[in-house]
Amino acid sequence: MPVTLLGAAEIRALAAELDVTPTKKLGQNFVVDANTVRKIVTAAKVSSADRVVEIGPGLGSLTLAILETGATVVAVEIDHRLAARLPETARVHGVPENALTVLDADALRITELPGDPDVLVANLPYNVSVPVLLHFLEHFPSITRGVVMVQAEVGERLAAPPGSKIYGAPSVKAAWYGPWRLAGTVSRQVFWPVPGVDSVLVGFTRDSEPRGTETERVRTFALVDAAFGQRRKMLRQSLSPLLGGSAAAASAVLDAAGVEPTDRGEQLGVADFLAICRAAPPPDNLGL
Ligand code: SAM
Repeated sequence: MPVTLLGAAEIRALAAELDVTPTKKLGQNFVVDANTVRKIVTAAKVSSADRVVEIGPGLGSLTLAILETGATVVAVEIDHRLAARLPETARVHGVPENALTVLDADALRITELPGDPDVLVANLPYNVSVPVLLHFLEHFPSITRGVVMVQAEVGERLAAPPGSKIYGAPSVKAAWYGPWRLAGTVSRQVFWPVPGVDSVLVGFTRDSEPRGTETERVRTFALVDAAFGQRRKMLRQSLSPLLGGSAAAASAVLDAAGVEPTDRGEQLGVADFLAICRAAPPPDNLGL
């Protein structure tokens, strides 16, 4: 029996049956258009061999489109009513037993996933999209690629190169794991309720080798936060609390890393931040 997708009327009926009124707090904007969920799955190049993890499956529209490919899905949903109902929705729509595992959990706190998923696909809750993405990349190294839908500004920021106005701490931290790309735009009209912001798809591919050790990642992210926390300041000032306590000490580290002390954070790529981390004096460098 082939997997069938949810239609707009069925989505509303399901929500009414579960007494679910979409909340802003949980970023609940459900996709009610089959073409859009298929577009996301196509952009993610999901195939029957994939083990997909989905954050926030909601009523299941994207989940069913992923399952339609023959892939398996682990779905993490914080709303108990939605998590409890999803297996039944999947069964009614022809999903084979064992193809879907639903975890009733907060995606920001989860640290274990069954089955070592290799692909992340999600229409993310917009209020937590960056922290949840970084949390998954940090905790689940089996994820090698993904496509997620996010607020347009967030997607553009994630994919932004150094030097652009929107380049910021999320851009550098995301780049730690590998390259990001914009993968398409999505109309507001495909959501229920219609959100007040535009949405885009953004894709990533994890580098085959980690860029540095976990300790280096933590220290590099601390540098990134300090540099963008005072974005208008030169690095020798914004990083001085982490690099010796004075502009002179910070300049020496920056020189050793091959970075201009008068640069600002927005001019540096992730490799530059890592070079600063590695040039900082051991053993307890960066105060961490
Ligand atoms: N995937 C569905 C779709 O496309 O129609 C729903 C997407 S909706 C934008 C976001 C979903 O994430 C909601 O179902 C919401 O309950 C869930 N959610 C919000 N915060 C979450 C969290 N911290 N952990 C897991 N799920 C969360």
